Amino acid sequence: MPVTLNTSQPDFEARLAEMLSAKREDSTDVNAAVAAIIADVRHRGDAALCDLTRRFDRLDLTPGTLRFSPDEIAAHVAKVTAEDRAALSLAAERIRAYHARQMPDDASWTDPDGASLGWRWTPVSAAGLYVPGGQAAYPSSVLMNAVPARVAGVERLVICVPTPGGVVNPLVLLAAQLSGVDEIYRIGGAQAVAAMAYGTDTIAPVDKVTGPGNAYVAAAKRQVFGRVGIDMIAGPSEVLVIADGDQHPDWLALDLLAQAEHDADAQSILITTDPALGHAVAGAVDRILPTLPRAQIAGASWRDYGTIIVVRDLDEAAALSNRIAPEHLELCVDDPEGLAAKCVHAGAIFLGSHTPEAVGDYVSGPNHVLPTARSARFSSGLSVLDFLKRTTMARLTPGALAAIGPAAMRLAAAEGLQAHGESIRARLDMVNERPAE
Ligand code: NAD
Repeated sequence: MPVTLNTSQPDFEARLAEMLSAKREDSTDVNAAVAAIIADVRHRGDAALCDLTRRFDRLDLTPGTLRFSPDEIAAHVAKVTAEDRAALSLAAERIRAYHARQMPDDASWTDPDGASLGWRWTPVSAAGLYVPGGQAAYPSSVLMNAVPARVAGVERLVICVPTPGGVVNPLVLLAAQLSGVDEIYRIGGAQAVAAMAYGTDTIAPVDKVTGPGNAYVAAAKRQVFGRVGIDMIAGPSEVLVIADGDQHPDWLALDLLAQAEHDADAQSILITTDPALGHAVAGAVDRILPTLPRAQIAGASWRDYGTIIVVRDLDEAAALSNRIAPEHLELCVDDPEGLAAKCVHAGAIFLGSHTPEAVGDYVSGPNHVLPTARSARFSSGLSVLDFLKRTTMARLTPGALAAIGPAAMRLAAAEGLQAHGESIRARLDMVNERPAE
């Protein structure tokens, strides 16, 4: 049974606080194991990758077979059905079109003191995308990571995907091809992250590592951060559905179950102004759940973390949503735009009854790599910006230096940094010797 709360209950605040602070992530400590794997890859390079892949993925590789050859890729991709290829191509194109609009502009101007100022965006040179493959394969994750990188102009794109027992998902390779990936390696886990960060004889290092993965992958990304950039550490997925009374209970139940079937640690929350709707949705979940192939996973998630909250009105729903700061927020109400304006902390918002969150996982266009565990309060989903850096620019004329330099010299003196001040004074002395232009 999911938890049912009502904002009118006297203990509501305490029970909400309990829900918000519940830790859903697997607390198994993997840090020490991951540190040892990273050290091994740094020390022994390709030999460590082959040993670790034999151990964790039951696959015998040599340095020469770590990478998929073009012929292998072509042979696997040829197995994809026309229907699957069309769906993946449509997804890739829509994701590309959406992310193309995210490209920020450079800026430059001359201020009243005569300083020319601005900034410039440039891509990272090489990005490494981790694609999980231990228990399932995720072609959609390939598109969501690789397409924004390509749109940003990243020159070299690398993918690491484990192929346990040698089992390859052709759709993953096709997604890589459609998004312009240059190199694909059949390695996974912490060893793949270490290889991308530090490099081996076979795999040149990258500048940024992105992509989801299990606890080993997450711990490895944390440990290589600084050596390379990372996108984020994504936790278990979550959805918050806000619904008024005028909704189809089955649709809402399916949206909650779509999230729950990701992971036993996923969380699905319904907030509704209508207690009868809440009741009907709970009934629909119970009816539909046993029909799902992943009923065990979805059932565990719904049982442990599923929540239905009855509120007095939609203003109360928006305030609660802002406290929960969900990864995915579905607004199944009469005026979704009006409600969205009040919901300011969310990774992605899905407006109206005909925008199920699942379209966002694949084809609507926005990225599906989103902040979880309330981090939407301060961060955003993966975007083109994750693959760009902003370099600031300044050019001063002698006149501009004369106008603002003295203030810098005073501040340098206050900080006790003599060479700072002198570097400005030396120039100003020359400027002052020159006759005025
Ligand atoms: P994975 O590729 O993340 O992990 C497989 C690797 O884990 C193996 O190659 C192995 O190297 C390593 N490993 C396994 N057991 C180990 C051990 N005992 N010691 C050291 N290393 C070990 O694949 P997965 O396990 O299927 O996990 C995928 C995760 O990614 C899931 O949690 C899934 O929910 C998540 N995911 C998230 C998103 C998202 O967008 N947030 C998308 C897709 C998948």
